[in-house]
Amino acid sequence: MWNILYNKSIMQKKYFITTYGCQLNVHESEKLAGIMQELNYVMADKLEDANVIIFNTCAIRGGAEERAIGNISALKKFKQQNKNKIIAVCGCMTQQKSIADDMYKKFPFIDIIFGTNNIHLLKDFLERKNNQKRILEYSEDFNLDGEKCPIHRTSENNAWVNIMQGCNNFCSYCIVPYVRGRERSRPKDEILEEIKQIIKENKYEKITLLGQNVNSYGKDTLETNFAQLLQEICNLKDDFKLTFMTSNPKDLSSDIIEVIAKNDKILKEIHLPVQSGSNAILRKMNRKYTTEKYLSIINEIKIKIPNVRLTTDIIVGFPSETEEDFQMTCELIKAVQFDGVFAFMYSKRPGTPAAEMPEQIDLKTKKTRVNQVLKIAKEIKQAKKMKDNK
Ligand code: SF4
Repeated sequence: MWNILYNKSIMQKKYFITTYGCQLNVHESEKLAGIMQELNYVMADKLEDANVIIFNTCAIRGGAEERAIGNISALKKFKQQNKNKIIAVCGCMTQQKSIADDMYKKFPFIDIIFGTNNIHLLKDFLERKNNQKRILEYSEDFNLDGEKCPIHRTSENNAWVNIMQGCNNFCSYCIVPYVRGRERSRPKDEILEEIKQIIKENKYEKITLLGQNVNSYGKDTLETNFAQLLQEICNLKDDFKLTFMTSNPKDLSSDIIEVIAKNDKILKEIHLPVQSGSNAILRKMNRKYTTEKYLSIINEIKIKIPNVRLTTDIIVGFPSETEEDFQMTCELIKAVQFDGVFAFMYSKRPGTPAAEMPEQIDLKTKKTRVNQVLKIAKEIKQAKKMKDNK
């Protein structure tokens, strides 16, 4: 009896997924897991125990790429130990043809390389792998096919729901529009159906709507818009909490703020990346709003949603950022009194306009500035805590 169970556990095919980057990638890994589960694989506890190892990569900053490359190189020994192991790499890094080709040449032990557009073809890739040495599948066909994948949800209490893919904003430092394509909104009914399924499972307290720029949901289809979608989800009878990410200030309209304010289901938390407090830098970033516009939106939010929790993203060390520009960023953070600040040093992304800009800032200055932003954010948090404890 025991050796039957023992043999069964040995024979059980296993997969392991390593995910880099944002919540969208975390959710895409849930889809990759969904496909593997449908192929009767189970998740391995450790990478080395897996028959299929998948790396879902991120290209948003150089650091994420370097880490992935370092860990991918380390996979060579597992392939040498067992040539039947299958190693696959996908995501935003390999959605860039030059990087995919380069990786194919440099790492002959990688069996399958694909991007962000064709994750739904993982089953085909694995089948083809049986009679094909290696697979390099690059696609520029930005679609919504990935939304049809089975989902193996891995988060305890939160269910991720994609509402759209891609971004039309082309902020000058950002690689996303090049690796995720133009904005494509999922049909509203499909989203509502997925949410009804999640509610039926009754496992998740919170549902998080995902998109690179959720506020412009529906602009490509003109079927609906983000405020209407939020309201329709809130009209569902069941008990759950709703939140969303990520917003772009240029598209956060009053009707969205009002829907958040009047619906208890929607968590009173808004992540609104400002990136810089200097209009000169915002222009060079192609962010399409001014600090005055941003502050007026913040003001409207604080009036209509008094207990709102506000967080933001800040990039320091953008090309040509002067000490004066940087001080404007610090002043804006103090003026808004954010509850949380995610601060990043500008990272040159090949293929983006900012990478070609003059007056690139040195690493030492970037480090000084990012630490100063984190210090200010920490002081704000501590002061708020003191006030709350009074
Ligand atoms: S809004 Fe800008 S920063 Fe955000 S994903 Fe789109 S291009 Fe990138």
